[in-house]
Amino acid sequence: MTTTIAWVGLGLMGNPMSKHMVNAGYKVNGVDIDPVARERAAANGVNIVNNVVEACADASVVFSMLPSGSDVDDVMTSADGVFASSRPGTIIIDCSTIGIAYAKKLHEAASEAGVVFIEAPVSGGTEGARDGTLTFMIGCDKAHATKAKELLSPLGDYLAHVGGPGTGQAAKVVNNLIMAVSVTVNCEATALGERLGLDMKEFFEIAIRSSADNWSFRIWNPAPGVVAEAPASHGYKAGFKTWLLAKDLSLAVEAGREVGARLETAETAYALMSEHSNSGGADMDATSLALHLADKKQAKAA
Ligand code: NAD
Repeated sequence: MTTTIAWVGLGLMGNPMSKHMVNAGYKVNGVDIDPVARERAAANGVNIVNNVVEACADASVVFSMLPSGSDVDDVMTSADGVFASSRPGTIIIDCSTIGIAYAKKLHEAASEAGVVFIEAPVSGGTEGARDGTLTFMIGCDKAHATKAKELLSPLGDYLAHVGGPGTGQAAKVVNNLIMAVSVTVNCEATALGERLGLDMKEFFEIAIRSSADNWSFRIWNPAPGVVAEAPASHGYKAGFKTWLLAKDLSLAVEAGREVGARLETAETAYALMSEHSNSGGADMDATSLALHLADKKQAKAA
């Protein structure tokens, strides 16, 4: 018998991820507030429905891939949200990056509502979502870890059960601290290299064979025309939106304050990404910070 799942959030990540679930043989009821996202998902075989209540009506599993903690909280706990619309025992897997506090709150609220909440934030970008090669950082009770891995298997190739509530998000916050600071410094380095007159394509060949090599420099190189598939080579179309990267840095800074860890580098990266986000770059790919740092306002507005 075909298993029905509900999928809330069909954006840059949710769209290719839900497509893999369709291809794996699930019936997928999809919801998104953006008509463009809905159209794209419908073309992949997702059954677009009007709202969360309809999506959950015949679903035994619910996935969400939404921008931020407050979005997920809203979608899960509102009167016509996922928790209230799901049958008792329904498994709800949220793959968004929402931070530790929201994750813990939602585990508790789910348990009160008689459903099972599993946090499963991801790493690997839109490329990993497209290829089904994401890394998942799962936070849930041990009893649900095997089922979570089984359900996520069409989407990723490394599925780690980190521990109980909040731990998946803790791993994600630490991972994205490293990634977001790398993206920021890659943008600074690119703006500097260009000012120094370096051929950034040639510099790329040097850097990936040198001590500067890092994942985001290879995949999301900030200089146009260096990596064919990178957002920089496509007018900085996201990819990973600047405001979402700033959000991830804010989650790291918050977590650091909570436990008394010094995070000066993250705080500087957060300030730079926020500055760029608040001056027109929010929905561009985060590597467009290189334009902001180079003061290429015109290119940015385009
Ligand atoms: P996105 O903005 O492209 O997609 C989010 C989607 O959610 C949008 O289509 C939006 O319309 C929809 N949405 C918002 N509120 C909604 C609501 N109330 N009901 C239904 N739909 C709603 O963002 P994305 O890049 O897909 O990122 C999603 C999550 O994944 C974020 O938490 C992000 O931090 C995380 N993430 C992103 C990447 C990446 O490379 N883009 C990588 C890893 C993790």
